[in-house]
Formats: sequence, C-alpha cells, structure tokens
Amino acid sequence: MKIALIAHDKKKRELIDFVQKHRMAFSKHELYATGTTGSMVIAETKLSVKLKKSGPLGGDQEIGSMVANKKIDMIFFFRDPLTAQPHEPDVSALLRLSDVYQVPLATNIKTAELFISILES
Ligand code: PGA
Repeated sequence: MKIALIAHDKKKRELIDFVQKHRMAFSKHELYATGTTGSMVIAETKLSVKLKKSGPLGGDQEIGSMVANKKIDMIFFFRDPLTAQPHEPDVSALLRLSDVYQVPLATNIKTAELFISILES
C-alpha cells in the first residue's frame, strides 16, 4: 500500500511515536510524507519515506495530487484541532479529495489504531 504520513506541529511527537510503535507494519508499505513530518519519521525510525514539500509550502497539495491520481491508498494525518493553520485551505482540500476518491484517512490516534490493526492483520 502507498501510505501518506502528515502531522501538524503539536501532533508530530504523537505520530512519530505511533509509527515507531508500529514500525514493523509500516515497513511493509511505501511511505510518503510532508517534509518536516517525514524528516522526523526518517530520523527517529530509520524507515524509508519519500518526502514531499513541507505542508505550509505545498506538501498537503502534493499529497492531494497523489490522491487525485490514485497513488495513495491510506492517509494518517494527525491534525491539531486547537491551533489555526496558515495553510488551512490546503488541509481542507486534502480532506475533500480523500472523500472524493474514498481514501481512508485517520485524523486522530484512535482512528489510526483501528487502521493499523487492519494493516497488521
Ligand atoms: P510538515 O507539514 O510535515 O512539513 O510540517 C505538515 C502540515 O502542517 O501540513
């Protein structure tokens, strides 16, 4: 599967810990990520991750483009619901495209745990 990883700044620690915890499951898939999130995942987990631009600089749109071209099968996007994001329109666009193309998207750790239980089964 092609899996995208994205986390807003205050959620990056949570996502990295989540990926580390499920490293074995993630290692079996092709991983993509927005720039900062992906760099941190690589540094801490040593997994292979293909990097897009940083989210505020177009990375969410790059992932959205992959969704529109059916090149992403699942998205883990740990959003920060309590902080305004300068690139909110890009975030909304990605969420919309995931619905248009029916790509499963986890925006919080509880949903992510459900997704990973499927990947691990
Ligand atoms: P980042 O982008 O991984 O480059 O921080 C994530 C985002 O804020 O969309």
